[in-house]
Amino acid sequence: MNDGTLKIFVGYRVQHSKLYEPTKGGIRYSPDVDLSVITALAMEMTLKCRVADLPFGGAKGGVICNPREMSPDELERMTRRYTFEISSMIGPDSDVPAPDIGTGPKEMGIMFDTYKMFNQRAPYANAVVTGKPLTLGGCSARLEATAQGGVCILDEAVKQGHISGLTSLKDATVIVQGFGNVGFHTANILHKDYGCRIIGISDSKGGIYNPKGSNPSDVHNYKTDEKNEKESIVGYEGLDTLATDEFLTKECDILVPAAKETQIIGSIAADLKTKVILELANGPTTNLADKILSEKDVYLIPDILANAGGVTVSYCEWLQNKEGTQWKIDAVNSLLREKMTTAYGDLVSTVKSHDVTTREGAYMLAISRAMQVVKDRGIFP
Ligand code: GLU
Repeated sequence: MNDGTLKIFVGYRVQHSKLYEPTKGGIRYSPDVDLSVITALAMEMTLKCRVADLPFGGAKGGVICNPREMSPDELERMTRRYTFEISSMIGPDSDVPAPDIGTGPKEMGIMFDTYKMFNQRAPYANAVVTGKPLTLGGCSARLEATAQGGVCILDEAVKQGHISGLTSLKDATVIVQGFGNVGFHTANILHKDYGCRIIGISDSKGGIYNPKGSNPSDVHNYKTDEKNEKESIVGYEGLDTLATDEFLTKECDILVPAAKETQIIGSIAADLKTKVILELANGPTTNLADKILSEKDVYLIPDILANAGGVTVSYCEWLQNKEGTQWKIDAVNSLLREKMTTAYGDLVSTVKSHDVTTREGAYMLAISRAMQVVKDRGIFP
């Protein structure tokens, strides 16, 4: 560490399914990381890639640490060592990490550089990670991709009349839990491009509520202002700070959990007053909450579909690195839209033909596609 002490960090990389290779999934830096969470998230990646029909298996990684309490140098050293420790697992054709909570383009650039040092002659080595800075073969649409993909599905659901009581996104009220990359971009796109009213925003320190609506860009500037020592949205325009249960259960048209897993628990689900839940976090809803929601008139857009936009644009980045080209942003966005709307259409048909919930339908779609791969490959020897 910078003060000369030695600190040992525990990290993981889990590959869930190698039916398709490379396996694919983000790297999380958080004090909450543990092997069971990373394993569950790796399985989610397998299912997500089947729903979005991408030729990847599922994986996930993480390091138990608090990146907010570490200096850039400390983070770089930890990232390099972690990459070295998992270097026998990763590679452009075996396993391709990407950002997740607590990581971003900077860490992906360092991961690529570390991998390259030990694989000097590897062809298209920058395809070893996605979500890189543009200079290293990153894709300009990647930062907004998860948000953009989720909004695309929400827009389809509204246009197709699947959300009872919501016929237009214009003036729809929105509560967003989580104001990291995904939460911020979702709020911003919904506000700027669709005319939604962002009435609630929260981060790890608390939630702010403003029935008139806030401009996500201004809230973001407030949070990232050098003078804001808390590095939080709390205190924005003197608004009161709300606790999670009070915040999530405020009346709104659209609720977007974009923080982390198990946020919508049974007691919160029972009190929710929203028309639709767009699950941009991975696993934000517990099983009990899911059961309660299925009995309420709430349209659920499940995580393995809703947040598949991130890995879909990762697919473009991986392809362009392997080809040694740079895709035009319009080509990336049109592939994103096509993949997301096709997946949503497939989900809607599954839900209809089996008379199941959207969650069950998404799992049925993913698992039946994975089963078909197993059948088509057969069993060795
Ligand atoms: N961490 C993201 C997710 O959970 C992105 C994964 C990727 O791009 O590989 O979907």
